[in-house]
Amino acid sequence: MNSTKSFTLQTQAGSEKIGEALSAGRNGFLRLPHGDVETPVFMPVGTQAAVKCLLPGQLKEIGTQILLSNTFHLYLRPGHEDIRFHGGLHRFMGWDRPILTDSGGFQVFSLSKLNKITDEGVVFRSPLDGSEHFFTPELTVEIQEALGSDIAMVFDECAPHDAPETYIRQAMKRTYEWAKRFYKAHSKEDQMVFGIVQGGVSIPLRQESAEQITSIPFDGYAIGGLSVGEPESVTLAALEATCAYLPKDKPRYLMGVGTPELIFASVALGVDMFDCVLPTRSARHATLYTSGGKVHIKSAKYKRNREPLDPRCDCYTCRHFSRGYLQHLYARSEVSGMVLGSLHNIRFLTAMMENIRISIRERRFEAYRKAFFDRYRNQDGSE
Ligand SMILES: [Zn+2]
Repeated sequence: MNSTKSFTLQTQAGSEKIGEALSAGRNGFLRLPHGDVETPVFMPVGTQAAVKCLLPGQLKEIGTQILLSNTFHLYLRPGHEDIRFHGGLHRFMGWDRPILTDSGGFQVFSLSKLNKITDEGVVFRSPLDGSEHFFTPELTVEIQEALGSDIAMVFDECAPHDAPETYIRQAMKRTYEWAKRFYKAHSKEDQMVFGIVQGGVSIPLRQESAEQITSIPFDGYAIGGLSVGEPESVTLAALEATCAYLPKDKPRYLMGVGTPELIFASVALGVDMFDCVLPTRSARHATLYTSGGKVHIKSAKYKRNREPLDPRCDCYTCRHFSRGYLQHLYARSEVSGMVLGSLHNIRFLTAMMENIRISIRERRFEAYRKAFFDRYRNQDGSE
């Protein structure tokens, strides 16, 4: 095994033998070329090679271990060859810790005008200028190798969650064939590659997809196509069915999930990695997470509030400013309001993950989960 990439499980709460119990939460250690990542981990999203409103130095200060960036967007602008010219994505964006790049699959299917999906690949039109592009598993390998991310994701087809079973089955079959081609084309030694399990919300299809994808020896496995509009109970049932089929000694990544409710529930099922645009997007729209629940900081009721946003938070925003000042900044649409809000929201989730890891190590994950939600739900905050 290449020494610059490995995954080690340190503790699995509730189980004496590592890897035995599924419903316990796991504390792991991901060794990557640009550094070590302790799991479970939340990855902030830097779509355009930048986390909106936050600088790399700020992200480091609040404990961000790894970022996610988007292949689809960087391929369209500035282009992966431009980023290769600048020495790769890490140097380009001034971030020297690990980066995971998605494959672009999700955006190809959700953002662009699709022309044609064939077994070979996908022809789509750019949402920017209408130009035509052809994505294949091989091209998405080439792009992610040029970007030089620590973890590359396979190119998969994300079928809509309410698509008919015949369609989901066809998409799964294609995803499996593409995964094999992606694995074969990949040659960058110091880059992990993760496969993606699809299958919509059908439990038998999830299991079938998991069996197919895990037959390829990827470095880790992601669960895609969940939390895309279906009820939370349906998400969790499909997730549980998938996790049961994933190898216990490889990292598991639930794509696009970032709410405290789903993170706790998924950690309990043995998920190690999460990403979501929600914390930064919500922050730009004045919705801030606090230990007492969500707060819409623009509300006039905070005008004369001298309290910090969250007295339990150690971030720069909470140490220096009142809810009243933040209300003023947001009401005036001051950029610094969005910066302070984004900083807090990412710190809130990062600190939550730190506490989750500690609680797993100390075998009191369920107690921490209960304490977290006793506070999180009890507040008036969500107006
Ligand atoms: Zn804070």
